[in-house]
Amino acid sequence: MYLRKLPSGKWQCTVRKPDGKKTTYTDKLKSRAKEWGLEMEARFKRGEKRDPRAGEIKLSEWRERLRANSPLEEPTLAKQDSIWATHIEPAWGSWPMNAITKSEAQQWVNKLKVTRVARYQGKDVDGEDAPFLGAATIHEIVNTVGALYVAALDEDPPLVATNPFARLKLPRKVLPPIRFYEPEEANALYRTLEEMFGLQARTLVELGMDVGLRPGENYGLHVDQVDWLRGLIEVRHVMTRYGLRGYPKSKKSHRAVPVPPHTLAAMKQLMEGRSVWGRCTCPKVTPDGQKTPGSGPCPGLMFPAAKGGPLNDNNFRQRYWNPAVEAARLCGKLSPSRVGRDTLWTVGKCGTEVCDDPAHKIRRFSPNVMRHTAASWLVQAGVPLYDVQALLGHEDFATTTRYAHLAPEAHDKIMGVWRRRGESSAAPRETAERNHG
Ligand SMILES: [Zn+2]
Ligand SMILES: [Zn+2]
Repeated sequence: MYLRKLPSGKWQCTVRKPDGKKTTYTDKLKSRAKEWGLEMEARFKRGEKRDPRAGEIKLSEWRERLRANSPLEEPTLAKQDSIWATHIEPAWGSWPMNAITKSEAQQWVNKLKVTRVARYQGKDVDGEDAPFLGAATIHEIVNTVGALYVAALDEDPPLVATNPFARLKLPRKVLPPIRFYEPEEANALYRTLEEMFGLQARTLVELGMDVGLRPGENYGLHVDQVDWLRGLIEVRHVMTRYGLRGYPKSKKSHRAVPVPPHTLAAMKQLMEGRSVWGRCTCPKVTPDGQKTPGSGPCPGLMFPAAKGGPLNDNNFRQRYWNPAVEAARLCGKLSPSRVGRDTLWTVGKCGTEVCDDPAHKIRRFSPNVMRHTAASWLVQAGVPLYDVQALLGHEDFATTTRYAHLAPEAHDKIMGVWRRRGESSAAPRETAERNHG
C-alpha cells in the first residue's frame, strides 16, 4: 500500500489486488485514505492468511487486550474508558467483531444524534432538560470504536476484514467562535501582571499575546532557543504535563518566530546575571509516551517556576493568570483583592484608589486566549492568513481560516452592495415623500 498527496491536496491510497492490478481511493483526510488501504489489504489477505474465526472475538475482549498494552497516557485512557463504558460497551461490547455491519453502525450513529447527555455542566440531568450529544462527542465516540477495528485490521494476519465504523455519516462539527482580548484589556493585564508578579510574568504573557506561542511552548522556552542578535525564537518543543516534548522537523509547529523589540528587551533584562549555558534538566517525553524524569531546577529555562523547574498549566493558571485577570482594571486602579482589609471601597463602584466596577474589569478567559489574541490582532491589521499560520504553527490551514472574518477587507464586497443599495433606494423615497406632501 502506498499513500501520496495529490496536487489538489487530497490523499490517494493505492493497493495492489491479488491479481496484480492496482486499485486506488482518494480522500481529503490522510487518515481515512490510510484506513481504506489497510482495510483493502486485509480484505485481499482474507482468502490466504486470515483465520475466519479470528473475527469472532467479542469487541469487549479485543478492547481489553489492546488496553493492556496501550502506549497512551492516563488522562487519554481514562477518557476513552468513560466513552467506552457509556456509549460503546452497552451497544457493541458483546458482539463478535465480524458480525457488525456498516449499516448497523450507521443506525447506531443516527441514534447517538438524538441521545441526550446524562451529565451537563457538572450536574446529573434527566429528560428534556438535557441537551443532545454534541457533534464533537459523537466524532470522539465513533473514532474510539473505529480505532479498535483499525488495530484489528493492522494485525498480521488481520482479525477482521473490514471496519464497519469507517466513513460513516457523522454530524458536522461546529467550532465555537474565536474570543480574544481587546488591546486595552491586554494592557491592563500586562500592567497588573508586572505589578503583582514582576517582569517575567508580563513578558511570558506578551510572548503569548503578540507572537502567539502556545502556553506549553512558553513554559518550555529555553534560553538557547533565542537568537538574541536577530530577535528570533526557534520553537522546537512544548512543555506538556509529562515533560518537554520535541516537535519533529516536518511539523509546522517546529518554526522560527520573530519577537517584538520591546519584548526582546524585557527578555534580555530577565537574563541579567544569568548564564546562557547550562544543561537542560527538564523532564522529557517522547511522542510515543516514553518519559525521562527531570533532575532538579533547569538552568536553561527562560521562564522558570518559583523553585526553578518548569511552569505547568495548573500552576501558571492558579498562581499568575487567574489572580491577574481577576485584578486587572481598565481604569488602572487597584482591585479589592490587592488592598488590605482596612481599606474602604464600595461594591460595584470605581473609587479613588480601589475599583470594583464590573465595567472596568477584563473578561475572564483561559491562557489559550493569548494565542487567539495574537492571531486576531494580526489578521485585523491586514496580515495575510498564510503568514499568521506560519507564526502560530497551525498544522492545518483550516485552523487559520477561523480568523478570516476578522480581516479588514473580509466584508468589503457585501458592505459595498449594501451601500450602493442604500444610495439607490434613497432617491425614490424622496419622491414618495414629495407626492404625499
Ligand atoms: Zn530544561
Ligand atoms: Zn475603575
